[in-house]
Amino acid sequence: MTVGEAMPSRWHEAEIERVVRATPRTVSVFLKAPVARHVAGQHLDVRLTAPDGYEAQRSYSIASAPGEASIELLIEKLDDGEVSPYFHEVARAGDTIDVRGPLGGHFIWRAMDGGPVLLMAGGSGIAPLMAIVRDGVRERTKVPLLLVYSARTWEELAFRDELIDLEARHADFRFIATTTRGPERRVGDLHRRLDAASIREILAGWRQTPRHVFVCGANRFVEAVSTGLLAASLPAGIIRTERYGGVA
Ligand SMILES: Cc1cc2nc3c(=O)[nH]c(=O)nc-3n(C[C@H](O)[C@H](O)[C@H](O)COP(=O)(O)OP(=O)(O)OC[C@H]3O[C@@H](n4cnc5c(N)ncnc54)[C@H](O)[C@@H]3O)c2cc1C
Repeated sequence: MTVGEAMPSRWHEAEIERVVRATPRTVSVFLKAPVARHVAGQHLDVRLTAPDGYEAQRSYSIASAPGEASIELLIEKLDDGEVSPYFHEVARAGDTIDVRGPLGGHFIWRAMDGGPVLLMAGGSGIAPLMAIVRDGVRERTKVPLLLVYSARTWEELAFRDELIDLEARHADFRFIATTTRGPERRVGDLHRRLDAASIREILAGWRQTPRHVFVCGANRFVEAVSTGLLAASLPAGIIRTERYGGVA
């Protein structure tokens, strides 16, 4: 099946396979995959219904590579949120939720799209970019991929060990962690916010000219990074953004 063939706008039940803590503020929620094969970068809509019939609906990016047996979502807990705390406090293996998708036709990457590809993630914005990384290295495309991933601390970098391992095994993949409230741990990582100066520095070190740029995270992160990318002379036409909400 290809994207769009399985009526992605139709709601259906998906069973939660397991919920695994990823970082102090995020869990990975694995769903048995009753949905059509997705393209890296796409998301699902999730709908929860309370016993009194009240419904709440949110979007969550798919972090797993296309074609995996389970769909992985990475969900950050917002303490005052309506939906995200459910996945941290209530959801258990065997529960079912309503899902719709895969959705999204702009913030996507396929191996045939080529590269070099620059991925800029803030917090849980790593989710769709992780799908691109996993897809890119699995397909052995030889497409240069650089992931710049910002979190408050080293402990808050989801998929950190997997990313370090992938970088060690794939010459075309580079991973730079930037931490804003804790020190860097590896040579090449940064302890600072991403801005025009740090982005210029990162691009100079990579020695590639990106053909596709994906930026994902909370509004403020996407705003700051997009401004920095433009100031670093990257053309607006190659930059795709996905905003998760939060303060503007
Ligand atoms: C296409 C798309 C994909 C998304 N993928 C993911 C994902 O993979 N993982 C994930 O954790 N979230 C993702 N989100 C965000 C998600 O849809 C919800 O908005 C988020 O989980 C908050 O929902 P909530 O019901 O818990 O909080 P709400 O009840 O909606 O909001 C509670 C408070 O938190 C603020 N808030 C909402 N979102 C954020 C945010 N991202 N950062 C900071 N403050 C916020 C609100 O302004 C409000 O004040 C995605 C959003 C979009 C549009």
